[in-house]
Amino acid sequence: MMRRVYLDNNATTPVLPKILEAMRPYFGEHFGNASSIHHHGQETRAAVEGARESVANLLPCRASEIVFTGGGTEADNLAIFGLAREGDHVITSTIEHHAVFNACKHLTESKRCEVTYIPVDGRGLIDPEDVKRAIRPNTKLITIMFANNETGVVQPVAEIGTVAAGANVYFHTDAVQAAGKIAIDVNEIGCDLLTISGHKLHAPQGVGALYVRGGTPLEPMLYGGSHERSRRAGTENVPAIVGLGKAAELASAGFKRGDDLKMATARDRLERELLALDSTGLNGRGACRVPNTTNVYFDGIEGEALVIALDLKGLAVSTGAACSSGAIEPSHVLTAMGLSRDRAKASIRFSLGKQNTEEDVDFALALVPETVARLRELSPTWPRPAISI
Ligand code: PLP
Repeated sequence: MMRRVYLDNNATTPVLPKILEAMRPYFGEHFGNASSIHHHGQETRAAVEGARESVANLLPCRASEIVFTGGGTEADNLAIFGLAREGDHVITSTIEHHAVFNACKHLTESKRCEVTYIPVDGRGLIDPEDVKRAIRPNTKLITIMFANNETGVVQPVAEIGTVAAGANVYFHTDAVQAAGKIAIDVNEIGCDLLTISGHKLHAPQGVGALYVRGGTPLEPMLYGGSHERSRRAGTENVPAIVGLGKAAELASAGFKRGDDLKMATARDRLERELLALDSTGLNGRGACRVPNTTNVYFDGIEGEALVIALDLKGLAVSTGAACSSGAIEPSHVLTAMGLSRDRAKASIRFSLGKQNTEEDVDFALALVPETVARLRELSPTWPRPAISI
């Protein structure tokens, strides 16, 4: 069987065996509705509340400040639509994930709010001073991500939190790509809302959580029963919530063991050797980044072609490009950082996970240089060395 190596953990991560084990009883013998008052309900209620404690310990905050959702997108939407009212002004950035970007776009298109988009510099960083300057008397919310999904660049969230607190503005941060990779402290950041997603930290897809600081006046998006203290109606997805709780517990233990340092060592070797190739460069150079991500451009190639060629040889990586009306559009994150369309389209993201080994990095390093060289050879536009006759 062909060997396959998965270096696309920012897209999703495999569910770890310990997490699957923790979830398994909640698909079978522990099936109760967590709102039922009998034994079966009590059992699953205890599991949900245990998971809430574990997620709260990761951030760290009070368990009552955690709202379970159906994923990161829902948590981002709940933060934004739960706070922004008609006539409010909202501040975000040009490099947000579509879960925030398109929610903000909807705020303007529906004429509910005006939105200001803060630009980034060549490293992919937001200047907190720009955020401060953008604040207006009616600014209700600042929503700026913690770590970028394409580049791994970590924003100065604590400084932005200080700016927000100084102006009495609510601050939400999408920490989907930060959770489990770097330590998070909601009090150090000074945020009022923070999003995490299960499947980026080895729990299943379709579960997430929103941290909501006590006292934040959040309107629900879903109406129904009084689940999640009336902040998110709907019978809880108990197995997935148990998985998220276990993932949070393992992530907390992983920091103590130095999992993040191990990941950084493997990522750094991969990055060093890729950057030694001709006409390559790092996107996000000079910025603090999460330890698992590297985003590299290989001038002269089409990123999509490289992804497909590598996949045929067993290596899974990705581009940040989006397909719109049949044409591949360059990543909005990379173009916001000032990359040309060609260079943005020549960029590839490699993202490691806890399950990856140094052998996986060897595998990637055995494939990428020769594949890049072959694609460049095939390219009619890539300069060839002059042939002397
Ligand atoms: N925010 C960021 C930064 C992400 O990377 C993602 C997923 O790629 C999301 C939000 C959306 O999370 P989910 O897939 O759980 O809806």
